Amino acid sequence: METKLFTAPLDEAQYEEAAAIVRRGGLLGIPTETVYGLGADALNEDACRRIYEAKGRPQNNPLIIHIPDMSWLPRYCRDIPPAAYALARRFWPGPLTMILPRADCVPLRTTGGLDTVGIRCPDHPVTLEIIRRAGVPIAAPSGNTSGRPSPTTAQHMVEDMWGKIHGIADGGPCGVGVESTIIDLTCTPPRLLRPGGLPLEDLEEVLGEVIVDEAVTAEPEAGKAPRAPGMAYRHYAPKAPVTVISGDPDRSAAYIKDNCDGESGIICFHEYLDAFEGHTVYDLGHKDNKAEQAHAVFDALRAFDETDVTKIFAQCPDSAGLGLAVENRLKKASGFHVIRV
Ligand code: AMP
Ligand code: MG
Repeated sequence: METKLFTAPLDEAQYEEAAAIVRRGGLLGIPTETVYGLGADALNEDACRRIYEAKGRPQNNPLIIHIPDMSWLPRYCRDIPPAAYALARRFWPGPLTMILPRADCVPLRTTGGLDTVGIRCPDHPVTLEIIRRAGVPIAAPSGNTSGRPSPTTAQHMVEDMWGKIHGIADGGPCGVGVESTIIDLTCTPPRLLRPGGLPLEDLEEVLGEVIVDEAVTAEPEAGKAPRAPGMAYRHYAPKAPVTVISGDPDRSAAYIKDNCDGESGIICFHEYLDAFEGHTVYDLGHKDNKAEQAHAVFDALRAFDETDVTKIFAQCPDSAGLGLAVENRLKKASGFHVIRV
């Protein structure tokens, strides 16, 4: 299959061509503020089946539906609680996915067989324009091949999907770098299913009490399906095994210093780069800048595959703000191999 790259900035004709791919049931790589998505018409079962095929994604792992504004919400969801509108008004467009009861027009293929639907309005002008022109919501999981790190540039999309999909719209590098926060509004109190680009504390300001699902911080028990099906799957793990060191940054750096050798790769906060001179090091960002860390975390995990390191140590931020999402992605990459210091 020939893949067409729509380079930024898209002109009128390119927007029309990209929207036409979606209307025809084709596959289109789309930029969002979180990560790049692999998009198709959410209401077209065949198109959604092709998303699963292109990614090699398990069929029971649901897709997120992307809409251009809050007014489309009642078309695809039922029994929408006032809290959903309150969240949408405050945080959309933005990195927040809400789980709500599914309307009949949304195929079960799109929701991985579930009677609920994950829905969000992404904060990216290129994708919002394409959805509006296509006139249909776009279902899109992250645009990586299943098991690979989520793509945060159009080049990453090209690496994984060239020749497998009809087009890729280049909207520049993603600003946030981790996927959306997922909140389940079908239960009381609401439940955080996946930490992401919108901090838990922001949700609590609107919702009051929020339960954090156990799959966010601990390895899912064998045979027990987590509420967000995607949390069951091992996220990208580098070739070398990862050990996550959590706790005070001075102490975690000291632990790594005592335990690393010449074959170790180290993911550390910016402040400790000098301490690890001579090692293969990736700068995760300043220790108090969680936004920098979210932006860097997937690239950090990918970078060591180009090197000869045999093990990786990663300093882990505390869980405040975006730290919860960074911590979750690091822990998943390590298979929950965590040492607290
Ligand atoms: P991805 O964008 O690749 O992270 O995939 C979307 C993720 O959203 C899935 O892996 C699920 O974990 C989650 N998700 C989507 N729809 C639902 C739903 N209806 N209920 C629970 N989780 C969902
Ligand atoms: Mg994904």
